Amino acid sequence: MASGNGYAVGVEVDGVRYPSARAADLALGLPPNTVCHRAHSRNYPTYRWLGETPGRRPVRKPEDCAVGRPLAEPERWPYDGGARRAPVMDPNFDPPRLVRRVGWLRCMTCGRPHFSEDVARVRLCCTCGGLGGLPIGADPDGDL
Ligand SMILES: [Zn+2]
Repeated sequence: MASGNGYAVGVEVDGVRYPSARAADLALGLPPNTVCHRAHSRNYPTYRWLGETPGRRPVRKPEDCAVGRPLAEPERWPYDGGARRAPVMDPNFDPPRLVRRVGWLRCMTCGRPHFSEDVARVRLCCTCGGLGGLPIGADPDGDL
């Protein structure tokens, strides 16, 4: 039985100690909740609650969840002529999986450098139709 603060409560049955009422149920081959019920009952004086068992129960926090973690997306960096390729990793796999690589490329149509979110698949700048493209003239600073 949990005590409400994250600790299991030990129980003693006929002089034998168990770390929890459920552990006693399993060890004695009793149905679930039997030891818990008997320890609360006056009809079973040899079943008694002990103090809290040391050792905290693991509490799940968002940081140690195994799934649903966002991709590790690298920050965009200033133009380097296409020297650097940075990996985008998916941390939901162990070991983390490579999703794609980002970096600076020259557009295959107009030749202008642009930052590609996937250097293997997105090889046109947005103006020329990369990533679905932008309407002509919709890119105000022209660096996409
Ligand atoms: Zn282009």
